[in-house]
Amino acid sequence: MNGNGSNRLITKRAFLNAKKCPRLGWETMNGAKQPLTLEAEYEFFEGNQIGGLAKKRFQNGIEIADRDPYVAENETRRVIGANPHSVLFEPAFIHRQFVARADILVPTETGFSILEVKAAMEQNLENAQGKEYLEDIAYTIWVCRSAGITISSANLWFLSRAYRYGDCEDTMFAEIECLALAEPLIEAYEADSGRIEGFLLDTRPDPLLRAECKGCERNTECFTDFYDHTIFQIPRITSAVLQGWIDEGITRVEQIEEPTGLNANQERVRQSIITGQPFLDSNALEEELCAWRYPIAYLDFETIAPAVPILPNTKPYEQIVTQFSLHIAQNEGDSICSVRSNHHEYLADPLDLHASVIGLAEAMVNALPTEGSIMTYHQAFEEGRIRWLMNWLTDQGEEGLARQLEPLLERLVDLEIAIKAGYYHPDFRGSYSIKGVLPVMIPCLTYTGLAVNKGRLASCVFSNMVLGREKEVRQKGLQTPTREDLKKYCELDTWAMVELHRKLLSFL
Ligand code: SF4
Repeated sequence: MNGNGSNRLITKRAFLNAKKCPRLGWETMNGAKQPLTLEAEYEFFEGNQIGGLAKKRFQNGIEIADRDPYVAENETRRVIGANPHSVLFEPAFIHRQFVARADILVPTETGFSILEVKAAMEQNLENAQGKEYLEDIAYTIWVCRSAGITISSANLWFLSRAYRYGDCEDTMFAEIECLALAEPLIEAYEADSGRIEGFLLDTRPDPLLRAECKGCERNTECFTDFYDHTIFQIPRITSAVLQGWIDEGITRVEQIEEPTGLNANQERVRQSIITGQPFLDSNALEEELCAWRYPIAYLDFETIAPAVPILPNTKPYEQIVTQFSLHIAQNEGDSICSVRSNHHEYLADPLDLHASVIGLAEAMVNALPTEGSIMTYHQAFEEGRIRWLMNWLTDQGEEGLARQLEPLLERLVDLEIAIKAGYYHPDFRGSYSIKGVLPVMIPCLTYTGLAVNKGRLASCVFSNMVLGREKEVRQKGLQTPTREDLKKYCELDTWAMVELHRKLLSFL
C-alpha cells in the first residue's frame, strides 16, 4: 500500500495505451481480462523463448521470479544490495503508482545498463513499429531512474536478420543503443505522468472517437453504433485524414464535403455506403475474369513463421509453407459437385518438417494442371511463398523441383483484385479480405464454428505441433485443434474462392 492509500499499480502496457487513448489505458488496467487464446498463448511462449535465449548470454544472472510487483521490488532491492555486481533478470521497480520490470539489468562502472529483449527483427527506431519499442524502453528507464537507479545505457535487443538456423546462439541478437533517443520521451513521461495517473486510477473515462478506433479491438464495445461512423470504412485512408475529419465533426461519409479528394475506389465505396446499394462495374469485372484460363486451380497456402528458426538456412520469422489446399475447375461449365470433388491438399508432418516441405512442393506440382490460371486471394502472399519454396529448395539441393515451380508464377491470378475492380457491397464495411467478403457474397459459407478459423490461428496450432507443445497448451485450459481442423480451414479458403468466382460470373 502506498501513501495515497491505493495499491493499484500502473503497468507499462496500461501507461502506454493510456497515452494513445485514455479509455484504452483504463481498460488495460481495470477492465475484465480477455480470455487466453491460442494466439496469445503462443505469443507469450515465443516472447519467453526469446527472453530465455537472451538470458543465457549472462552467466549467473539472478532471476527475480515473484510476479507480485511489491514482493519483486523488495527482492530486487535486496539482491542489488547483497550482490551489486550481479546481472538481474526481470527486476521490478516502482515509482509512485508506476511499476516497471526490466528484462535484464546489467551493472556497469557508472550504474546499470537496461536491456529490453524483443521478439522481433526491427532495425529502425524511426518507423511506427520502431517508435513503439522506443516508447516501451523509455517507460522502463523512466521508472527505474525515478526509483533511484542510475541508468548508464539502454539497449534494445532484436533478433538478428543475419542469424540462420544452426548459427551460434551468441549471434542471434542485434543490439541498438537507444538511451539518447529515449531521453525526450522520458522527460515527456514524467511531465504527463500525473495526468495519466489521475484518470487511470479514477472512474472509467468515456470513449472519444479518434482515428485509432479504426483498428482497435474494442471499437464495437466502446461505440455500439461504431459501424454508423462510416468514414472508417473508406479503404486505405490515412490516420491523419481520418483524425482531421473527426476533429471537424465528420464521422459519416455523407458529411464529407465535395470535392472529397478521394480516389476512384474510395469514392465508389463512399457512394455505395450513401446509397446502401452494391457497386457493380460489369465491364471491369469481365475484363478481369475473361483473362483467366481454364483449367482454373484455386490455391491457398498456410505457413508458420517461428521466431527461432527450425529449418536449415532459414532466419527468424521466415515464413515456411506447411499446407496447401487446391480445388480445380477443369472447364467453365463444370458442375459444382465435380469441382468440389476435384480437391487436393497437403499438410506437413510436424515431426519431419524438412522432408515435408519438399513433399509439399512435389505434391503441389503433381496436383496442379500443367496449364491454366492459378487463382489466389491476395496473390502477393502465394507468389511470395512459391518464390520462397524455389529459393529454399535450391538451397537444399532440390534444384529440379525448384525449377518446376518457376512457371507457376506467371499463371497466378488474383480474385481479390477482380472484386476490387468490379464489385463492392456496403456490408463489406471497407474490407476486401476473404473473411470480410465471403459472408456478404455467399452467406451460407462461413468460418464461424470452425475450430481453426483464421490464418494466424492455423499458424499457432501447427507451430505447437512442430514444437511438441500441445500437452503444455492443454494444461493451460486451451483446446488444441487437430490436423483435421487445419485441413477443414484451408479447404474452406479454396472452396470460398470457387464460390466467389461463380458469384462474380453470375454478375456478367
Ligand atoms: S475504440 Fe477508440 S475510444 Fe475505444 S478504446 Fe479503442 S481507441 Fe479508445
